Amino acid sequence: MKLPHFMPLRFYNTLTQQVQEFAPAHDNTVRMYTCGPTVYDFAHIGNFRTFTFVDILRKTLRANGFGLNHVMNITDVDDKIIRNAAAQGKTIEDYTATYIQAFLDDCATLRLERPERLTPATQHIDDMAAAIARLGEGSHTYNSEGSIYFRIATFPQYGKLSHNDFGGILAGARVDVDEYEKADARDFALWKAPKPGEHFWEEPIGPGRPGWHIECSVMAIKYLGETLDIHAGGVDLIFPHHENEIAQSESLTGKPFSRFWLHAEFLMVEGQKMSKSLGNYLTLRDVLARGYEPEAIRYLLESVPYRKTLNFTFDGLKSAVTSIERLRNFKLRLETDRYPEGVQERMTARTAAASQAFTDGLNDDLNTAEALAAVFEYVRDANSAMDTGEFRAGDVAGALELLKRFDSIFDVLQPGAKGGQLQDAEVERLIAERTAAKKARNFAAADRIREQLLEQGIVLEDTKSGVRWKRK
Ligand code: AMP
Ligand code: ZN
Repeated sequence: MKLPHFMPLRFYNTLTQQVQEFAPAHDNTVRMYTCGPTVYDFAHIGNFRTFTFVDILRKTLRANGFGLNHVMNITDVDDKIIRNAAAQGKTIEDYTATYIQAFLDDCATLRLERPERLTPATQHIDDMAAAIARLGEGSHTYNSEGSIYFRIATFPQYGKLSHNDFGGILAGARVDVDEYEKADARDFALWKAPKPGEHFWEEPIGPGRPGWHIECSVMAIKYLGETLDIHAGGVDLIFPHHENEIAQSESLTGKPFSRFWLHAEFLMVEGQKMSKSLGNYLTLRDVLARGYEPEAIRYLLESVPYRKTLNFTFDGLKSAVTSIERLRNFKLRLETDRYPEGVQERMTARTAAASQAFTDGLNDDLNTAEALAAVFEYVRDANSAMDTGEFRAGDVAGALELLKRFDSIFDVLQPGAKGGQLQDAEVERLIAERTAAKKARNFAAADRIREQLLEQGIVLEDTKSGVRWKRK
């Protein structure tokens, strides 16, 4: 008998611009770092496209027999967070707690596995300050008006990830807000001078707060060592964020920061990136409130290979619902129908071929479309074999096994929580948050919470004895 020969696992590496065979550098464990959410608001489903890609990546690595040591940061300090927390009279911790919890809840709803370590930036401020001091000893930094900047001219390889040639335009220029950096190739802030009334940390390098880029370098090296196997995120992070991470990390260690760099393309809405700033976004909760199952969103996000943009439409979401139905119906038919005894050899071969095509698709740079096509073509063939009596009782186990393998990656066959049902405790928590926002005279935030609850069918009534609520 011919043994199946699976294609080796390959990824497109942004650094080399090539598809390369992947295996971890040391032992069997993949050391992987992915950039996590900035917790100043609810994550939108564009963000979750990237986090879902990371989940598929994890599961495919595991299916290839590798162990995982995956670290993801939570960016719980940045300009917006500090500004919003100050405006609401809250500590950073109090302000971000809501959104961290929401992120974790949403990940669970979408069945995204927890990384081996999920770690907030604010627990590593001392490490960051120490790393900045070391960069200073190596003459990679300069101080200006209380802030510390990375001098890109000291890292000649700058641009190697984004394949940009920055020759000539870098010297001397600088800006001090992360938002602005995205538009320009300039020196970037490692440590930002405190602004009046806003939170800062007192460190040997001076009072201030860390820039966004240094947090990832510091946490990645601390937990995973000087050279990672994989670093991943959305394409918008290639420049400047990941380019800056490389500059800092390699200036600190003298070693390559990551062997593979993987980047997920955007979720788009009518030709534009889904983003907070464009206002064209939907949170997971928004979509669930319209009655869709979380699995439908998960499926939609998975169905387009991660290096292609994915245009979000409700029609697309409806076809995701139909696709899941087809698979669930097939599974039900396997489990409940009675078939003639024996094995149909043609079917055994068909199952093996589908299984191989499924694995080959995923191993081909996570080509989820190819993997799904393998399963759906199989389901079509098996269904017609069932209709003509050619599917036998002995073929059931192989078919179920294939569905199990499919679901160990795509994870949509088991119906989960029904969409749109906020738990009572969650409602109470949001109401308490709204009351606190009103007290702090932040009426915009209070209104947003009321609207958010309304979207989920919860009506609030302000009475003398407090807030009452009911489901519409
Ligand atoms: P943020 O919370 O803004 O730091 O983003 C979290 C992750 O979501 C990052 O990896 C981003 O690259 C990614 N991301 C942001 N917008 C989109 C989008 N429209 N489609 C896919 N990924 C996105
Ligand atoms: Zn990062």
